[in-house]
Amino acid sequence: MNEEERVELAEILFPSIKTTRDEIEEKYPERSLEEGAKVTRFAPSPTGFMHVGNLESAFLDYIFANQSKGIFYLRFEDTDQERYVEGATDLIKSSLETFDILPTEGALNGGVYGPYVQSERKEIYQTYIKDLIIKGLAYPCFMTKEELQEIREGQELRKEAIGVYGPYAADRDLSLHEIKKHLDNGDEYVIRIKSPGEVNNTVTLHDLIKGDITMPENMIDEVIMKKDGLPTYHFAHVIDDHLMHTTVVIRGDEWVPSYPKHLQLCQILGFKVPKYAHYAPLTKKDEETGNVRKLSKRKDPEFSVEYYEKQGIPAEGVKLFLSTIVNTNFEEWYLQNTDKSYLDFNFSFKKMPTGGTLFDVEKLNNICRTYFSRESAEKIYDDSLPYFKKYDEEFYRVMTDNKDRLISFLDIERNGKRPRKDIATYKDVKTESIYMFDEYFFGDKEKTYSEIDKENVDIELLKKYLNVFDENDDNETWYSKIQVLAEENNYADILEIYVK
Ligand code: GLU
Repeated sequence: MNEEERVELAEILFPSIKTTRDEIEEKYPERSLEEGAKVTRFAPSPTGFMHVGNLESAFLDYIFANQSKGIFYLRFEDTDQERYVEGATDLIKSSLETFDILPTEGALNGGVYGPYVQSERKEIYQTYIKDLIIKGLAYPCFMTKEELQEIREGQELRKEAIGVYGPYAADRDLSLHEIKKHLDNGDEYVIRIKSPGEVNNTVTLHDLIKGDITMPENMIDEVIMKKDGLPTYHFAHVIDDHLMHTTVVIRGDEWVPSYPKHLQLCQILGFKVPKYAHYAPLTKKDEETGNVRKLSKRKDPEFSVEYYEKQGIPAEGVKLFLSTIVNTNFEEWYLQNTDKSYLDFNFSFKKMPTGGTLFDVEKLNNICRTYFSRESAEKIYDDSLPYFKKYDEEFYRVMTDNKDRLISFLDIERNGKRPRKDIATYKDVKTESIYMFDEYFFGDKEKTYSEIDKENVDIELLKKYLNVFDENDDNETWYSKIQVLAEENNYADILEIYVK
């Protein structure tokens, strides 16, 4: 096809696209940011499920943008309409709000680089595709499902690379006349990019986390626009990251194999290639097999972000835990810096693990204990109230009726050198204090003290305790009396002996 024919074809395929590529580029000027400021994006597909890996992604975007005084924006990638679930964007929004990982701009709060929902950017993508058609860099492909299947089977049999490329790209060089015939027939088509890739060429991904990864160059004529007129993820995100001036693409390492494709698209489109940081998946030891595997939606409740709220795990605790996961030197720093938060830490891609990261709920609990041990009794009280209001109204009432008492209870041994670490979740506020409230201690309220299981209570010991107990004693005096009492009655007087 000569240029004139390509222009004609582009008009036939995209009659309603009147904008030009240059006009669009003008609407998305360079951002004026300080030197070194990172522009990151969280780009989930609204599929109705938000997992802790997504949260990790958003957290990393937030952290790196924040600490470089950059921009963190939210973009919904909903071009795969079959996977789209009604209400899914609300779940993403509410999760980001719950964990206070709020983007600076994007689908939640707008901005001048929008729209931030891919399905609302169809005209933009089509403008670029029309331009590629005019330049002879993309073409309509009318191959049917059956034809593609047949090619695939042959390739599998011959152990060749799978896909439409070289001799298999039958529609690459159709004449304008042939294309018109297909269109007159009403044949469905997709648009494919003409890959300039060669079989033996390689490309190197300079990954900020994993270092250099060399892979075969892409040689497949990838689909860039589907039959429904919407672009594929691969095409759309390359366009968006370019126009929205993303400087670092932070995403799960399941995308590493797609990098050659994305790099090639950037090159064909003449875009500057952003930096990439592919982080390792979250893993755990399978209880049944003992093997380390990826966290799974089906098997692991902790994979879903909803789990944390329901368990009463504080958002700050989850973020501290994510910090330990993403930077191997974080935990030590946090334990040493008792008055600091994760926001004060200098996160770096170089300290990110390159292999799978073990997701250990016990570790999460421990870091939450440390977190709570550094908070004031009032704050723990205030922060746990909404949890009980939502999940346990009865205890919520107990809390509000006994505010001062509960705060005094939470304040015991809180402000010394080694503050108590009995609280790991909001739930623990109840489990640890419950014995103070008769309605819980005696369950059905019908029971009285006289009904306590006397056989299992050492009444004599209690009497002895009452004899030595003096409410005016300070902490140390009280404790040494307890030790004496314990020793005299054959109980361990220090924890180490008991543990032995
Ligand atoms: N929409 C993609 C997903 O949800 C995001 C991949 C990316 O961040 O580039 O998996």
